[in-house]
Amino acid sequence: MNEDFQKFMDEELEELKEEGLYNTIRTLESPQGSWVDIEGKEVLNFSSNNYLGLANHPETVQAAKKALFNYGIGPGAVRTIAGTMELHNKLEEKLADFKKVEAALTFQSGYNSNLAVIPAIVGKGDIIYSDELNHASIIDACRLSGAEVKVYKHGNMDSLEKILKEKREGKGLIVTDGVFSMDGDIAKLPEIVELAKKYNVITMVDDAHGEGVLGTHGRGIVDHFNLHNEVDIEIGTFSKAIGTVGGCAAGSKKLVEYLKQKARPFLFSSAVTPPDVAATLKSIEILEEDDSLVQKLWDNGEYFKEKMEEAGFDVGNSQTPITPVMLGKAKTASEFSKNLFEESVFAQSIGFPTVPKGKARIRVMISAVHSKDDLDFALDKFKKVGRELNIID
Ligand code: PMP
Repeated sequence: MNEDFQKFMDEELEELKEEGLYNTIRTLESPQGSWVDIEGKEVLNFSSNNYLGLANHPETVQAAKKALFNYGIGPGAVRTIAGTMELHNKLEEKLADFKKVEAALTFQSGYNSNLAVIPAIVGKGDIIYSDELNHASIIDACRLSGAEVKVYKHGNMDSLEKILKEKREGKGLIVTDGVFSMDGDIAKLPEIVELAKKYNVITMVDDAHGEGVLGTHGRGIVDHFNLHNEVDIEIGTFSKAIGTVGGCAAGSKKLVEYLKQKARPFLFSSAVTPPDVAATLKSIEILEEDDSLVQKLWDNGEYFKEKMEEAGFDVGNSQTPITPVMLGKAKTASEFSKNLFEESVFAQSIGFPTVPKGKARIRVMISAVHSKDDLDFALDKFKKVGRELNIID
């Protein structure tokens, strides 16, 4: 083993620990749900993106079991070589229908969806206009594409227009998160679409935290703003409200035909497994039939935010059920999280580089499966720890 390399890693890890940025990964001994078993202890789960409880819903589990029996576990190889299972096609048709677009294509994750789409549609000589708080997978995909990246101030349309006005010879692409996952605010998509028309550029929205949350029956941000057919590409992620794993791009038939030929994660990485696909399909069916889970999620979010504010916490400017509890220093946030865990609340602290330095927080992920008693239990614990650490009076 290379000793210098081992020493390098030691030093880096030590630095992370000193700054309070070292990730402690908890081990779950139970399925996802409102309460989970972690390291022998039952704790209230405020850390998962399982917004609607579909990660362990009896119908999604049953659909996965059935697919396992009918199709086995593995997809065999990439779809262009081993052929595509009918289940994947069925899911893509369902997704297109749900999102009210012509077509959709699935990928192995939300991260991979961005990596698949951005480098396939823009490259050297093109310009990407990217919100400064966009998700890491968008940032990585932009870098991979080789296009020039111009970053605009978060949610600031003047800043976006300023860079759109600058000289461009190749294609232009505006890319934004739909819901910004660390703050819970919503992208100004109607304004973005207007600017895209004015400056003749492509629009792409990553709706990872909008699906299952925004719009009618959780159809997402495009539906929320009634912008059907106005956005070129919608990226979806199944690992949040949908409760499974995988991702997708949705838009025109031409887009999907093009991505099937050009998107490298589609061409060089195998598809999501049949049980995952079947469970995703079931999640969409559940959403289509009934929006009570979406309603419950919003009710829970409103209740929790209101009570936290009343208690004196700064919960930022979230417009969705995501509740950031702003604490400033990474060390304070990680101590807060540790103390909450002692009190049986699992709410992870988030620091740099996921959020800017000095803006560390506990990000509370509210779910439709939390009961009012769960939320009141958490409120008591937040208040107790908040007083102990002098965050609130
Ligand atoms: N895009 C955004 C905006 C996200 O928030 C996330 C998840 N944190 C992803 C993509 C990645 O999704 P996945 O976990 O499915 O790779």
